[in-house]
Amino acid sequence: MTVRVRIAPSPTGDPHVGTAYMALYNLIFARHFQGKFILRIEDTDQKRSKPEYEENIFKALNWCGIHWDEGPDVGGEFGPYRQSERSDIYRKYCDILIEKGHAYRCFATAQELADMRQMRAKMGQKSGYDRRYRNLSEEELKARMDRKESFVVRLKVPLKGECVFQDEVKGRITTPWADVDDQVLLKSDGFPTYHLANVVDDYLMKISHVIRGDEWMSSTPKHILLYECFGWEPPKFVHMPLLFGTDGKKLSKRRNPTSIFFYRDSGYLPEAFLNFMSLMGFSMPDEKEIYSVDEIIKAFDVKRIGTSAAVFDVKKLDWLNQHYLINSISVDQLWPSIQNWGFNEDFMKKLMPLCHTRIKTFGEFIELCGFLFMNHLPLTEELLCPKSKPPELICAIIQTLIWHLEQNDDWSRDNFFNASKEVATLLEVNHKKVIMPVLFASLTGKHTGPPLFDSAVLLGKDRTRARLLKAMEFLGGLSNKKMQLLQKCWENKDFQKFINP
Ligand code: GLU
Repeated sequence: MTVRVRIAPSPTGDPHVGTAYMALYNLIFARHFQGKFILRIEDTDQKRSKPEYEENIFKALNWCGIHWDEGPDVGGEFGPYRQSERSDIYRKYCDILIEKGHAYRCFATAQELADMRQMRAKMGQKSGYDRRYRNLSEEELKARMDRKESFVVRLKVPLKGECVFQDEVKGRITTPWADVDDQVLLKSDGFPTYHLANVVDDYLMKISHVIRGDEWMSSTPKHILLYECFGWEPPKFVHMPLLFGTDGKKLSKRRNPTSIFFYRDSGYLPEAFLNFMSLMGFSMPDEKEIYSVDEIIKAFDVKRIGTSAAVFDVKKLDWLNQHYLINSISVDQLWPSIQNWGFNEDFMKKLMPLCHTRIKTFGEFIELCGFLFMNHLPLTEELLCPKSKPPELICAIIQTLIWHLEQNDDWSRDNFFNASKEVATLLEVNHKKVIMPVLFASLTGKHTGPPLFDSAVLLGKDRTRARLLKAMEFLGGLSNKKMQLLQKCWENKDFQKFINP
């Protein structure tokens, strides 16, 4: 059998460390078995997918030193490798399922579904779809089609029995069909859902092993059923342990820096980063922790993949990075490497206009701009809480600002400024006397510096977000209850309940 594996990221956000993790293991697997490693872009979510996110996936993985044999940017004989260019294929396969009686059209409107959910909740029934359109009569179906009613296509999931499959890491997995909903395969806009597109593509692209994170495990029964309905042999499944933070919670951008670019911009070495990622799911036979990708490719054995969650501990990454820094960069190479990272021409061209009129001597350059080249800012409560405002209010300001910036994922200078103004109004604090010092302190560790919003752009979105989160963490953060209250206030754009509880 020719081994063909793939990663299938969705370009709906910043390039996630989980994508690097999955890419690395797929690459290792492909190379170990002299197979092919494919990158497919799963951009079926029309609203959230953006070309720049796709570009960033390529950039981030290339920074890691991960390259693929087939993909939208490098081509290959099984293309197109971008799902938005394959819509006709999915519609065709969806029709086959309807014809064979494995799928059906469901005409439920959004309102109808909402009412149904409410009813089911009231009656103490399980949430989920009640299969009301599964057995429409020929006449009714025809009448609705003639009226051109909008519909989705759903998979007919067996009403009893169970799905059994073999996971290469976890062994035999059994799921009662009663726990699985009649999954939507084709949305009313004619675009496929993840499940249909993923299975059709894995089949057409001759994927032999699906190596993906544990979070997809609950989707696998639906996929197995789809293979069965089409009469195709399913690939082998390998579900990798999820990444957890040191707080014992799933890694999330709400709490941890999850963008690969954060690690690049903070000055980590790609070799150390990859070594670190590989430790997440695997242990070498000799328990060695420092090794090259070539070494793990040689030693790879699916039996050594872990079954429990992997802890993403930045301290470990720091330790590894220092090892690589000492051993793979000579003294002569150190300055060129640092220069290349942060003191390069491109960056300095952007920075100099901000410094020109703000230093009396060159000696003040680092005093002014050092924060751009630092990973640990000297934070104090005094700095972060101007006018002796309570830490809780400061955390609320920062959190609301993050939500504001995230709503359009627009961290540009102007939007940052406007957002900060709006947050001042919403939380009834002075922009100049409260918001600005809070932001200066969080991003620069000082109350003065080059223009704040330009500095944030130079820091980049990922380091900016990380610093805002760090400032909140330093102040003790918000309790779950307060966070929920704040979220409600943000949704209603009315913070009275938070300000005057
Ligand atoms: N599009 C899914 C993702 O974003 C792919 C999951 C899979 O590998 O099946 O990760």
